[in-house]
Amino acid sequence: MSRVQLAIIGGGLVGASLALALQETARQRGWRIALIEPFAPGSEYQPSYDARSTALSYGSRLIYERLGLWQSIAKRAEPIQQIHVSDRGRFGAARLQAIEEGVPALGYVVENAWIGHCLWQALDADVIEWRCPAEVVGMQRLDEGYRLALNDETCLDCDLAILADGGRSGLREQLGIVVNVKPYGQSALIANVSPLEAHRGQAFERFTDDGPMAMLPLSDNRCALVWTRAAADAERLLRVSEASFLGELQQAFGYRLGALQQVGARHLYPLSLVEAQEQVRAHLVVLGNAAHSLHPIAGQGYNLSLRDTLALAEVLITSDAPLGDFATLQRYQQRQQLDQHMTVGFSDQVTRLFSNAQPLLTAGRNLGLLGLDLLPPAKRWFARQAMGMGTRNL
Ligand SMILES: Cc1cc2nc3c(=O)[nH]c(=O)nc-3n(C[C@H](O)[C@H](O)[C@H](O)COP(=O)(O)OP(=O)(O)OC[C@H]3O[C@@H](n4cnc5c(N)ncnc54)[C@H](O)[C@@H]3O)c2cc1C
Repeated sequence: MSRVQLAIIGGGLVGASLALALQETARQRGWRIALIEPFAPGSEYQPSYDARSTALSYGSRLIYERLGLWQSIAKRAEPIQQIHVSDRGRFGAARLQAIEEGVPALGYVVENAWIGHCLWQALDADVIEWRCPAEVVGMQRLDEGYRLALNDETCLDCDLAILADGGRSGLREQLGIVVNVKPYGQSALIANVSPLEAHRGQAFERFTDDGPMAMLPLSDNRCALVWTRAAADAERLLRVSEASFLGELQQAFGYRLGALQQVGARHLYPLSLVEAQEQVRAHLVVLGNAAHSLHPIAGQGYNLSLRDTLALAEVLITSDAPLGDFATLQRYQQRQQLDQHMTVGFSDQVTRLFSNAQPLLTAGRNLGLLGLDLLPPAKRWFARQAMGMGTRNL
């Protein structure tokens, strides 16, 4: 039986970021950290037309700067210079500009595979013990921690277990942690698209009666499309020919980037707002998508999880109490409560307001978008939320 001080279950972007945030302190204090992940990360990064991407907020850039990772991530990060928010077939529109907000970029679009590659390269095997490929299949509460049962029939004891195993966390259920689920009745269709004209760092958030869409600027003049549609319609769009797909997309998006010429592999994600009712117990933290999964249209999910991750690391690093101490973990939750509440609320409200074809609501959002463009304080508030800087001074 082996024992570590900290076991991070799930080596996705959130789990690996927490390992990095704790690495230096772990080295100094002699903590051993196990990072358990079923899928082996490739040691080589392969650029791909079909890769999924994430819009990192400006606040997330500042976090990765603090963790010493931004220089590597920046090599393949496409800056967002302007966000154009519009409503199809209506006159309301708003533009957020990096220059007006006094920042070099409103955010950055990066392929997930590249963020993962940078994280894995930065983790030091002397401190972080990769258990990969391995999966946690059971968790048992001990007096002073948890015993994890792995699928290779070994067990691992830890003082503090971090559940970062994603939105479909089976372990969360096993531990009896109840979740609130609000299905949106929509799916997000994801694909990379090449437009004829240069995107020049513009991101587009476009609201249509069928659901919101985002076109984000990627490297090599590609755009990352997130197109939200009713679940059955998204299924249909997954299957139509490339030419029909591009035709429908062009009609919904318009010609702001000229003709849309090529589309990569299409993927579908059914969407719900999922929130765990408990995020901390003695010796346990639920983190990342396992704690809250948001609608992707406002691009807030990972950015929020990264702020949670940094806050958790700071609380653990500055605490004198033993790892797993309940009061310390509660302090983490209290610190992030407002940020989580505001970000989840912002993302949910924007989604519901802009996914609705009712005349009163559409009139309201026309005024909202116009107001956003005309009223500097409203626009600044929206920009700060979109940049992931809403409730904290990052
Ligand atoms: C279509 C789409 C677009 C998005 N775009 C954005 C965006 O632009 N900006 C943004 O901020 N957010 C975005 N998000 C949200 C973002 O993807 C998530 O917040 C992020 O992926 C959460 O990471 P995670 O590490 O918590 O979970 P995951 O990425 O799901 O990672 C969980 C990890 O745990 C592992 N695992 C699972 N079970 C076990 C087990 N039993 N034992 C060990 N390991 C296990 C898995 O293999 C996986 O590697 C988007 C989400 C979607 C669906």
